[in-house]
Amino acid sequence: MPGQAPELSREQVEIEMSAHGHSIVEVKLVNGAWKAIADSPFNRRISSLSTPMRVSGPAAGHARLKTSGDPDGIKVIGTLNNCAGGVTPWNTVLIAEENFNHYFSGDPAQTAEASNHAQYGVAPDKTRFQWARFHDRFNVEKEPNEPNRFGWIVELDPYNPKSDPVKRTALGRFKHEAATVTIAPDGRILVYSGDDERFQHIYRYVSTGRFDAENREANLGLLDDGILSAARFEADGRLIWLPLVWGQGPLTAENGFHSQADILIEARSAAALLGATPMDRPEDIETNPVNGRVYVVLTNNDKREDAQIDAANPRARNAFGHILELTPPGARGPKADHAADEFRWGVFLLAGDPADAGSGARYHPQTSKDGWLTTPDNIAFDGQGRMWIATDGANENGFADGIWASDVDGPGRALTRHFLNVPRGAEMCGPCFTPDDTTLFVAVQHPGQEPGSTFDAPSTRWPDFDAALPPRPSIVAITSRGKAIGA
Ligand code: CA
Ligand code: CA
Ligand code: CA
Repeated sequence: MPGQAPELSREQVEIEMSAHGHSIVEVKLVNGAWKAIADSPFNRRISSLSTPMRVSGPAAGHARLKTSGDPDGIKVIGTLNNCAGGVTPWNTVLIAEENFNHYFSGDPAQTAEASNHAQYGVAPDKTRFQWARFHDRFNVEKEPNEPNRFGWIVELDPYNPKSDPVKRTALGRFKHEAATVTIAPDGRILVYSGDDERFQHIYRYVSTGRFDAENREANLGLLDDGILSAARFEADGRLIWLPLVWGQGPLTAENGFHSQADILIEARSAAALLGATPMDRPEDIETNPVNGRVYVVLTNNDKREDAQIDAANPRARNAFGHILELTPPGARGPKADHAADEFRWGVFLLAGDPADAGSGARYHPQTSKDGWLTTPDNIAFDGQGRMWIATDGANENGFADGIWASDVDGPGRALTRHFLNVPRGAEMCGPCFTPDDTTLFVAVQHPGQEPGSTFDAPSTRWPDFDAALPPRPSIVAITSRGKAIGA
């Protein structure tokens, strides 16, 4: 916001750009404690200032991805505002570009991409950054296509530190959260992803090719050729996957789609035209390793009006969020057919205080006054199939964010229990178990971010509690003395 925020120097802007990205750090369990390996050959920094990324799939090289810095439309510097991602069966990492729109200056209304940029929230009043003052690519009037190069799923290979990360355009462009990969019984690869904004959609990608466990290299193209679909939730319990394929139904030139690339670049409007269900902010989506079902976390939506209620988003002004359960056909468990055109769906829980009749909350009837939660965000499953829920927004309900756990089947289904609190002003994210369930890693984001807390006088100095250090986001490893957590 030039004119309001103090003007930053080039050096300050480039520090910000370098702080956007990823760090790959090898950690190892040494004498019962997790340690970072400082000289690991895998350690790597990926930044928005300097890391080149390749573009692949149907939109690679398309005219709408070309800029003066990249006249071929196949190479982008950096990745922006990543949220929850995933891991592939061939052990690459998928990172999800979420709120990429905040970084651009200039007036998109003056460009040929005006309606596209409006749809994704690229707008002068949304700009929180001054990057365009020193880097023209962040000025949409000079480089109207640069925002089209963000909002993708990026695949990176942590075992090859020299490899360029790849933006996989076949998975569509939106404010991605989650890229959860599973395998259909016939070997095709599925990726579930949500578009984390009010009234946006849930998506599933199905690869054309099949996973080959014996040939890692052969799997590196599976995310370039396949079918992206968006979800429509019917009131009778059916979930219909609507394919986003050029030339089918309304996805034609009459509606502005001249190729599959146009559909992928503007996946939001393609999904809306097909009749996908507008959801209450889709955050994480995860598959359960025991029952084979898929769980979708909707964090909240205070803008939904009474007239906009539907079976899958059943509360107006949904302040507390909810979790849906999707059931693919076929066998229960790892053999479930995630590639099917039609699933069943139901509500797993409606968050909020169950003692407050007006909240509309719905859990197991024995949920205690300390066991309920609000604004679920990221989830993880342990080896027994129990759900571990991280929240983002409990502060607005008067308590701290944290982790809650629940069975998904049997007598304890949807009986949530409180496991962990984060420090003041923080959000909990990224729950992740080791394969033997003996460590749960969690990420503590933005400690001290609450009203009245400032850099000079923060409300907490977690985790160092040192007057010379600000509060710092950190990874926490929770262990249970060599036993599985919750055993
Ligand atoms: Ca998110
Ligand atoms: Ca969130
Ligand atoms: Ca989050």
